[in-house]
Amino acid sequence: MSASEADRAATPSEPGGFLDIDLGAIAGNWRRLRQLHRGAVGGVVKADAYGLGAARVVPALAAAGCRHFFVAQLDEALAIRPLVPKAAIAVFNGLHGADIELFVRHGLLPVLNTLGEMAAWSAAGRWAELRLPALLHVDSGMARLGLDRRELATLADDHSLLDGIELRYVMTHLVSAEVAGDPTHREQAARFAAARAVLPPAPASFANSSGIFLGDGFASDLARPGAALYGINPTPGLDNPMLHVAALRGRVLQVRDIAAGEAVGYNATWRATRPSRIATVGVGYADGWPRALSNRGCAFFDAAPVPLVGRVSMDLSTYDVTDHAGIDAGAWLELIGPNATLDRVAEAAGTNGYEILTSLGTRYERVYR
Ligand SMILES: *Cc1c(COP(=O)(O)O)cnc(C)c1O
Repeated sequence: MSASEADRAATPSEPGGFLDIDLGAIAGNWRRLRQLHRGAVGGVVKADAYGLGAARVVPALAAAGCRHFFVAQLDEALAIRPLVPKAAIAVFNGLHGADIELFVRHGLLPVLNTLGEMAAWSAAGRWAELRLPALLHVDSGMARLGLDRRELATLADDHSLLDGIELRYVMTHLVSAEVAGDPTHREQAARFAAARAVLPPAPASFANSSGIFLGDGFASDLARPGAALYGINPTPGLDNPMLHVAALRGRVLQVRDIAAGEAVGYNATWRATRPSRIATVGVGYADGWPRALSNRGCAFFDAAPVPLVGRVSMDLSTYDVTDHAGIDAGAWLELIGPNATLDRVAEAAGTNGYEILTSLGTRYERVYR
């Protein structure tokens, strides 16, 4: 009996779902991106590695050769620091009122998003008589984080604002990288080039996952892919070039026969048009299985589609298995996998694969390969 089997035997109740996470596929995806990108390639592991578990994902990426990690918040950086003591760890949301001393003590890189943050980091560097390393984010069209036009002009006129700061990378972020041929790609590339021209020379960081697939015009010294590492298709509309990472199986708790005309689930939003068999699966919206999938989702059994019928409820969802004789209590439906791809699930739920992954709940039994 392996350790995980022993743990499973000791689990008091059977989980409603199994989440398989293929760390080898994450490493394979990182290597694939590194081959495609002219510059270095980091790994974005914010939001607990897009919900898949930073504690396991970060060491797997490090073993594959990843030396640059990106998170959103300081606490996420502190959590992974012990796993990768020598790697660069950058914090997208910047200093943001956080304790500067913690950044310095743990060797973390803030992404400086405003002149105010630059002033704080610069003061800390001058006080320590050091040049403290950081990334500088220049907004090129997202209007979310990063120096805006006026702030950039101020900095362009006064490079002394960078005293005490070691500019590791100047970065910007693409608005619509996953949309092939979108005009914003070139506009942003031009704005980014113009910004770099008025700043002291520094390496650049540009592409996210989809940006890597836009070609060499979007290559930089350091790409910042997240989604593609986790198997989300960086080229929507085309075949997914990435390896499949996450597989979610839902357990059938009960199967019942209902007559034509009978309804299923809250508010009776689905009614059988023929004598039907309904399978109830132990996965609901509290597990991150979107309620928006009600009457729209589709699981798979033996690679054949099984429609989700009725409302998704908190702990359960219901499927029409009339056409699948083999399904009984204890059977497993593929909720995310090679057939129920993340793209497909996301599309049915009216969202993207990012939101599906980062919503996956804590009640699944997680198995890492
Ligand atoms: C989340 C994020 C990324 C990663 O984007 P993906 O589309 O997941 O590859 C890169 N850069 C910034 C600034 C981000 O916030």
